[in-house]
Amino acid sequence: MSKPIYEMVIGLETHVELRTKTKIFCSCTNEFGAEPNTHVCPVCMALPGTLPVFNEQVLTYAAMAGMATNCYVHHKSRFDRKNYFYPDLPKAYQISQFYRPICEHGHLNIHTSQGEKRIGITRIHIEEDAGKLIHDDRLGTCLDMNRCGVPLIEIVSEPDIRSAEEAVAYLRKLRAILTYTGVSDCKMNEGSMRCDVNLSIRKPGEPFGTRSEMKNLNSFQSVERAIAAEYVRQVAAVEAGETLVQETRRYDQKTGKTSSMRRKEDSADYRYFPDPDLPEVYLSDAEMAQIKASIPALPDERRDQYMTDFGLTAYAAEQLTDERWLAEYFETAAPFAKSPAALANLIIGEVFAQITLRDTEHTGERDERSLPILPQNLANLSDLLSGGRVNSSTGKKILSIMFDADCDPIAYAEAHNLFTVTDEAVLRAAATKVLAQNPDLVASYRGGKLGVQKALMGKAMAETRGKADPERLREMLVEGLTGTDTE
Ligand code: ADP
Ligand code: MG
Ligand code: ZN
Repeated sequence: MSKPIYEMVIGLETHVELRTKTKIFCSCTNEFGAEPNTHVCPVCMALPGTLPVFNEQVLTYAAMAGMATNCYVHHKSRFDRKNYFYPDLPKAYQISQFYRPICEHGHLNIHTSQGEKRIGITRIHIEEDAGKLIHDDRLGTCLDMNRCGVPLIEIVSEPDIRSAEEAVAYLRKLRAILTYTGVSDCKMNEGSMRCDVNLSIRKPGEPFGTRSEMKNLNSFQSVERAIAAEYVRQVAAVEAGETLVQETRRYDQKTGKTSSMRRKEDSADYRYFPDPDLPEVYLSDAEMAQIKASIPALPDERRDQYMTDFGLTAYAAEQLTDERWLAEYFETAAPFAKSPAALANLIIGEVFAQITLRDTEHTGERDERSLPILPQNLANLSDLLSGGRVNSSTGKKILSIMFDADCDPIAYAEAHNLFTVTDEAVLRAAATKVLAQNPDLVASYRGGKLGVQKALMGKAMAETRGKADPERLREMLVEGLTGTDTE
């Protein structure tokens, strides 16, 4: 296939809710999923005469996010008002950081099928979240203000991303870094991580084209699909001789298309100015050092460790460090396994497959609840498989049973007599019986239709109730078929 004429240029703006106990400018609880309008007060409801008081924990978390993404973290930063009217923003302005964001000039590394690549981070700034409009058939449009004043950081990437694969790899890496540091739980399905995609196209080597922005994408899948759809639309428009305009577009999951919402505002339209209610915020060297020291080993470091300590491939190490809970699970299980590399392969193969199978709502999200198996039990199953004590199809069955009701697979295999049959006499008897009972297949095989071996193998396997050592059984069958002992 020839290279496409147009390359895509993508920059991402990612909003992440911070895991503080209370909101950013008042002492209301910061908690997802509460009854509407139960975590509100005069400050976050924007009643006249109230004043914001800054929650210092937000500054710590924002600085930590910046350090973990190789940013320069400023000692001093400041809040600005971003003025716009929207029904879920009762103040009619959002407190944000525009002129003096806390972090700038960072980067993170992504690993894709094309290898490793560095994606620049322009800035990270602190802001407050808005409320939520809920459209109810009976009640009409309702406003839930629990989310008003939930602390956010916005991470703005450089336009360094060139494909949907890179965009998703960037978001996954960002989510891994932020969850490892504990600043956010980054749950896209609960809205604690949301992403705006900016996309333009150009012929390679040309200056950047006019971008459109698709707001509030809340799954990796919709990010991928929105990028694909918007790329096709822009290419068609340019080929048809149209001039693209800078605009905000909505991606509709149902139609798989993007549609225009509004011409994009420029920053001048927001009339940013320093918030007179809030003083400058400051981090001392000592505070910075303390924050830095509290950052745990990050995904890239663990990835390298897994490769050297456990002999994992880059691919396996990348998969396991992608999510914090999973890395912790693997690190707990690995010491119990004879071969951590085999355990890793079991996880990224059959365990992921089981999780996907059980993801009936097709969210594509995984968390600790999706793997309800004790780490030691999974390590035992890995040993059974890697030691050849159960074959792979029996291993799959046991795994599925463990997902339904966790148990020790060794005890289970013993109780149900599931260990691999390696006894030569038993295997030979099974092979001989199947060959004798299927003369037609044997004749076809000998007549050159080698494919029928598969059917015979299936039958012979069934003779051992699925428990045969498949390699040995195949050898016995082939011996019989090629006639060395039937003549
Ligand atoms: P705004 O706040 O108005 O959305 P920014 O200048 O902060 O604008 O940029 C937003 C995002 O758009 C950044 O992630 C940046 O990398 C990206 N971006 C800027 N120019 C382009 C372009 N021509 N094509 C694609 N993305 C772009
Ligand atoms: Mg934007
Ligand atoms: Zn409040």
